[in-house]
Amino acid sequence: MPEFRTTPGFRDLLPPASTRQRAFVDVFAGLVERAGYDLVVPPMLEDIGVFERLGKATDVVTKEMYDFVDKGDRHVVMRPEQTASLCRAFVEHRPPTPWKVWYAGPNFRYDRPQRGRYRQFDQVDVEVLGTDDPEADVEVISLGWRLYEHLGLRQVTLAVNSLGAGDDKARHLEALTSFLSQHAGDLSTLSRDTLARNPLRVLDSKRPDDAEIVAAAPTIDQFWSDESARHFDAVLAGLRAIRIPFVVQPRLVRGLDYYVRTAFEYVGGTLESAQNALGGGGRYDGLVEALGGPPTPGVGFALGVDRTLLACDDEGVFPPPSRSVDVFVVDTTGGRHATVLADRLRASGWHVERSFDSRSMKSQMKSADRSGAEVAVIIGADEAASGTAVARPLRTDADQSTVELDVLEQHLDSILTTVAPVRDASR
Ligand code: AMP
Repeated sequence: MPEFRTTPGFRDLLPPASTRQRAFVDVFAGLVERAGYDLVVPPMLEDIGVFERLGKATDVVTKEMYDFVDKGDRHVVMRPEQTASLCRAFVEHRPPTPWKVWYAGPNFRYDRPQRGRYRQFDQVDVEVLGTDDPEADVEVISLGWRLYEHLGLRQVTLAVNSLGAGDDKARHLEALTSFLSQHAGDLSTLSRDTLARNPLRVLDSKRPDDAEIVAAAPTIDQFWSDESARHFDAVLAGLRAIRIPFVVQPRLVRGLDYYVRTAFEYVGGTLESAQNALGGGGRYDGLVEALGGPPTPGVGFALGVDRTLLACDDEGVFPPPSRSVDVFVVDTTGGRHATVLADRLRASGWHVERSFDSRSMKSQMKSADRSGAEVAVIIGADEAASGTAVARPLRTDADQSTVELDVLEQHLDSILTTVAPVRDASR
């Protein structure tokens, strides 16, 4: 047993999982940047006050924060989520609106670790600040949906709801609290505890003991004001216009209590129900103000990277990207020629690998083959003496040829473009 291991809920992400995660973020970035969202990178450490504004009824804030006092006596927290950070950044920098941004990175929650639930986990997010146009809700929801489509996931359901705002939200909460209090004796112990802190979250309970009461509890749709109903109708009409399927789920609430009006969740069909939310989001029209900014509506989502990739595993889609090596330099003269040639060919934009430790020709050729390289460029004593190299195609029957080093690039260009357009287009 090694002396040190990762602490519970924390993981090392090694290849190929790490390269797959990066590929995932690349896909996401491509998708949202095409929709005009720009990257923001907020810090991972924030003043604890930023998250306390999310509401003391939120588990993430009361139970799960990694907070500590730093050496300068500041009470800080490793961010448990990113929307509040982003709103803090908005208030601090006051960018022009609508502010359409995306970000990706880790969050920290002292959660109970299990499959799909970790103490450090990655999310990708988009947020739009400064508009309450329902078309913005539709755009945000569509981006998450298109991502899942792009990944090849088929068993995802989009659940939508409107939590109301202002009066209707308050009246629903009152009716719900009164109903649940009357039936508190029939609720599970955990839900009784939730009822005392955040009655809305009882609707989220997936415990069988609670099913009957939750099914009978008053739902928000009975309380919507005309304004809330209009906004929600417009969102649903927008989703229909771009053919995104959804189910209206009047019991859908979100973990953080600052949501108003639109709330949505992407539910993975293959994951266990306690961890089946791949991502979710909604409107948080009061949050910027709660953090000291001007009244500014906002809508966004956070998608869990880890859970989405677990869903991809379950559905057998989005495998780790395979590395495409162009050239493997085999040097049997000690390795310096490989250093010089690899450096030169990499500068030309090819993916180039080589061996270390002066291994035998046979062993280096084996590595070249295993790397998947298209061509081996071989330098032995004769080639070193005559300023040449042997270029040996590894994936076709084409003959090898001895090439002057001066014209090696042209030669590689001709063989590599005949196998596949492998040379990096961005060079
Ligand atoms: P939330 O910020 O709670 O709305 O979560 C948004 C998404 O982040 C969820 O749907 C999950 O996919 C993911 N997520 C939240 N908490 C965790 C966690 N502890 N471990 C892994 N993923 C998480």
